Amino acid sequence: MQSISILGATGSIGDSTLDVIRRNKNAYQVFALAANNNVEKMVKLCHEFKPTYAVLVNEQAAKELSILLGTATIVLTGIDALSDICSDERVDVVMSAIVGAAGLLPTLAAIRSNKRILLANKESLVMSGQLFINELRQSSAVLVPVDSEHNAIFQSLPSQAQEQLGYCGLKSLGIEKLLLTGSGGPFLTKALNELDDVTPDEACAHPNWSMGRKISVDSATMMNKGLEYIEARWLFDTSIDQIEVVIHPQSVIHSMVQYIDGSVISQMGNPDMRTPIAYAMAYPDRIDAGVAPLNFSQLSNFSFFEPDYQRFPCLKLAIDACYMGQGATTALNAANEISVAAFLNKNIKFTDIAKLNEQVLMKMAVEKANCIESILSVDKQSRLLASQLIQRDFSL
Ligand code: NAD
Ligand code: MG
Repeated sequence: MQSISILGATGSIGDSTLDVIRRNKNAYQVFALAANNNVEKMVKLCHEFKPTYAVLVNEQAAKELSILLGTATIVLTGIDALSDICSDERVDVVMSAIVGAAGLLPTLAAIRSNKRILLANKESLVMSGQLFINELRQSSAVLVPVDSEHNAIFQSLPSQAQEQLGYCGLKSLGIEKLLLTGSGGPFLTKALNELDDVTPDEACAHPNWSMGRKISVDSATMMNKGLEYIEARWLFDTSIDQIEVVIHPQSVIHSMVQYIDGSVISQMGNPDMRTPIAYAMAYPDRIDAGVAPLNFSQLSNFSFFEPDYQRFPCLKLAIDACYMGQGATTALNAANEISVAAFLNKNIKFTDIAKLNEQVLMKMAVEKANCIESILSVDKQSRLLASQLIQRDFSL
């Protein structure tokens, strides 16, 4: 029996994870559930999964939860509690599925405590890069990527690379390139001059995947693919030019690995996050995920093409940031969290997201971000700068 803590339990990845657990009750038990402030959903989850701990970071929400739950589950609050439920010695597996930079410290706590980590929270790796990988290398933690593209690449790699995630040069294994696929999101074919006026609901209506609102907007700008480019660079220890982004609107091929002998190995499946989650939970074994297999006779034609950087400037910014270094990727991630939140709150236009991200990136890229203090400082300064730019109509 594996004991699991779920960070981001009330979110989209949280839902999918709990559904896989429901199907495999004989193998997994929930030790702790953590989220930001959704009391109602947390009450329901605690009744069903009976965790030892429930964490709501928001103090008022945690108080309400504690009254509603009585003594059955111990309720904790505050950001330190997130790390505590990851490092507890009774825990075997941690699902890291908080959205955004808040996932960094608890994920590092899970690594330092040598857990199996199912990594959905790409922002933590994007903002800390080499430091994250160094921590992983020094620990005996096992990390399996949950992001569908990285999970697909992981599945398509030889076992030496799987076992040395973050520090296994791919060239020596005969690997030439990683092909990162992306659907292009809801605005792949929309007239460019109409992008100024798209609403948050339109941006969140992804054609193939059902996800939280931040990552849905990131998919519409393709910043998500940019963050994934940076994520892939660290996870698979590639040189930056070994990664290629390929638009594949059908979202059936979840990414590919190209070998020097001309072979290309891919992982395919219906676009349902329960598949990569189940794989990450059971690796190297397989368990039921509740996902129907592909029906090839009913699939429409597959198509593939290059991304258009004029339509998706955020993708270009992320690739550029990758070349600039850690300060740049930390700053870009932070700026993007602020600009996406501002767009979702209808304070800026959809097309302002890239403009704001670029301004912060250009100002902050030179900053050093090579230890946890400097990473958190660049993150904080970039958020502040992005917020000031929004307040002052983009001019400082
Ligand atoms: P979501 O918005 O649906 O859920 C986010 C969860 O994080 C919620 O439980 C929320 O309470 C919690 N949370 C937010 N801020 C918090 C904070 N400060 N402290 C503690 N908890 C906090 O998001 P999601 O779609 O489930 O995505 C979660 C992560 O997984 C993101 O990093 C995303 O990029 C990644 N991811 C998601 C998908 C997907 O299909 N949804 C796919 C690949 C990767
Ligand atoms: Mg993805």
